Amino acid sequence: MENTRIIAVVSGKGGVGKTTVTVNLGRAIAKLGKKTLLIDADFSLNNLDVVSCMENSSPYDLSDVMTGRARLKQAIVKDKYEQNLDMIFSNGLKPDCDYTPQAIKAVLYSYERFYDYVFIDSPAGIDVGFMRAAALSEEAFVVTCLTQSGLRDADKTIDMLENSSVPCSGIILNRVRGDLIASGRTLTVKEAETLLKKEVAGVIPEDDAILLSDGELKGKRAAKAFKLLAKKVINGENSSVYDPVKEYRGFFGKIKRSFRAR
Ligand code: ADP
Ligand code: MG
Repeated sequence: MENTRIIAVVSGKGGVGKTTVTVNLGRAIAKLGKKTLLIDADFSLNNLDVVSCMENSSPYDLSDVMTGRARLKQAIVKDKYEQNLDMIFSNGLKPDCDYTPQAIKAVLYSYERFYDYVFIDSPAGIDVGFMRAAALSEEAFVVTCLTQSGLRDADKTIDMLENSSVPCSGIILNRVRGDLIASGRTLTVKEAETLLKKEVAGVIPEDDAILLSDGELKGKRAAKAFKLLAKKVINGENSSVYDPVKEYRGFFGKIKRSFRAR
C-alpha cells in the first residue's frame, strides 16, 4: 500500500488494555475492509496470541524470522474471524536475537507495505521496550483509563513520544465506567481531553464481554465502541466516539446506576 499507517499502541501504565485495544481495533478496522497487520512487540510479556484467542497458531514467531530460523510468511498468522487481518506473535525473548528497532525493521520493511494498517502492541512503561515500539512506528495511540495515575502516566508517555518524534494521534480511554461519570465520581471524557491536550480518538466502556469473550464481541457494547474507534482512525476528525454515559442518563439511567453501585 502506498499509504500504510504504522501505529504503536502504547501506555505508561500496565494493564490498561493495550493488547485488548490492539486486537479489537484491528478486527474492527479489518471488518471495514482494510488490510491490517498486528505485531506483538511486547517481547517479554508477550500475549497478543492469548488475547486474540489465537494461541498455538504458528510454531514460528518474529524472533525466529529475525534469526533466520523461519521466513516471515511462516510466522504470519491469519485471524480466525477477519480475513483482512494478519498477526505476528512473539514467544518471549530469545538469547541469540538482536531486538534493536533496526533489526526488526529489516525483516518487516518490505512486507509492511502490503497492509493499510500495521498496529504495534507495545510493552508498558517508557523504557527500552517502549522506545523500540515507538522507533518501529510512525505515530502512536496512547491508551489510558480515567484514573489519576493512568492519566498522569499517559501525560508522560505523550511527552516521551513527542521527544522521540513520534506524534501521538490520539488518546483511547479504556475501561470507562459511564455510571461513575454520570454520578460525578470520575473525570469526564472532556476533562481527560483537556488535561492531556490531545483528542480522544476512542472511548471503550468497561465491559465484562471483553473478559469473557472467545475473541469476538459481536453485538456487545464494546463492539459498538470499537467500531466507532475504527471509523475515527480511518476517517479522522468528523467521526464520533462512543458515549459511555448515555445509558445512565434520565430516570431509568439512575435506576441502572444504583444497581451498578451495589
Ligand atoms: P495491557 O496490554 O495494557 O497490559 P490488556 O489488554 O492485557 O492490558 O488488559 C488487561 C486486562 O484488562 C485483561 O484481563 C482484559 O481482559 C481486561 N480489559 C481490558 N479492557 C477491558 C474493558 N474495556 N472492559 C473489561 N475488561 C477489560
Ligand atoms: Mg499487553
